[in-house]
Amino acid sequence: MLKIQKKLFAILNLGSRRRFPTLSVLLACCAFSVAVVAGEKAGGKTFQVITNREGDVTRFFVENREANEVTATFEIKSTNLKATTNFPFTATYPANKVTEAFSVFPDDPSKPWNYSYTSHYTVGSTLAKHDDSYIYRLPFAPGASFKVTQAYNGKYSHHGSDQYAIDFKMPNETPVHAARGGIVAKIKQDSSKGGPDRKHENHANYVLIRHDDGTLGNYAHLAKNGVKVAVGQRIEAGDLIALSGNTGFSSGAHLHFSVFKTRDGKGRVSIPVKFETANETAITLVEGTSYRSSAVKPGTILAVKGEPAPGASDKFQGGQKK
Ligand SMILES: [Zn+2]
Repeated sequence: MLKIQKKLFAILNLGSRRRFPTLSVLLACCAFSVAVVAGEKAGGKTFQVITNREGDVTRFFVENREANEVTATFEIKSTNLKATTNFPFTATYPANKVTEAFSVFPDDPSKPWNYSYTSHYTVGSTLAKHDDSYIYRLPFAPGASFKVTQAYNGKYSHHGSDQYAIDFKMPNETPVHAARGGIVAKIKQDSSKGGPDRKHENHANYVLIRHDDGTLGNYAHLAKNGVKVAVGQRIEAGDLIALSGNTGFSSGAHLHFSVFKTRDGKGRVSIPVKFETANETAITLVEGTSYRSSAVKPGTILAVKGEPAPGASDKFQGGQKK
C-alpha cells in the first residue's frame, strides 16, 4: 500500500535571534507528507520550504523538484503576526520551480513575535478533474488474464484514499502494462521489502502516471528494479511499464492499481474507474472474478511508442515494449 509518510525536522533561527534580540526564537517545523516517498532521504530532497527574512517580513517559498506538480498545505501558529493568506493554506506548485507561497509579518513591530508552522505535501494538483468517460485497459499484457482479489471497498485494505483500488493476483515479475496513457510522474524501484504488515507501507515499489486530466494512476508492489519507464517519459495505454512483485504492505504477490487526485497536502481522493476487457467494456471489476485483457487495438505499434525522457538509461531505450 502507498501511504502518507511524514518526516519532521526543526530549524532554529539563531541568526534572527542575534540580530533582533527582542524577538522570540523562531521555530520552524516542517512535516513532509508525500503520497509515495519511501526511499527518499529525510528533509525532502524533492520538496522543501525556504524562508527568507527581509526586515520584519518573512517570505515563504516552495521548492518543488518533483517531475510533477505538488500540492502543499501549510498550518501556522503564531503570536503577533499577520500573513498574506489565511490558514490552513493549500496551493499547488509547478514542477521544477521555486514558487513564492506567502509572507508573514508582525502585527505590532514593537512587540515580540514568533511562529511555528507545519507543511505537508503530496504529488498532484487540486485542479485535476477526472474524465469519467475514459475506459481503462486492464493493467497487464493483451490477452492475459488475472483474478481480482480485492476490489472497490475491499475489506483488507481498500478504504480511505485506496477505496477504489483494484488488486490483481499475479506471480512475481509479471509484465504490468499501462491502463491509461500519460507522463511518468514518479517511480520507486529500490525496495526488496514487503509483507502482510503495515510496517511495510512505505516499502512498496511503484510507478505513478499522470493522466492528461491531472489524475494519477498508481501501480504498486512492483518487483525490485522492475520499473521499465523513466520519470518524464510519455507512455500510452497498453505500454509495458513494470514487472509486478510483492513489495510493501502486501499479503502476497499482486498488483495494486488505483486512480486518484490530490485533495490537499495531506491526502488524496480515490476515484472509481471503468475498465474494458476482452469481452466487455465500461465495467466495474468485481472481487473473485478473473478478467482477460483485450487485444491491442489494430494499428497500435507499441514498439516505437513513447519517447524516452532525457537521461533515460539504456534499459528504457527500446526492447521493452512487446
Ligand atoms: Zn490493493
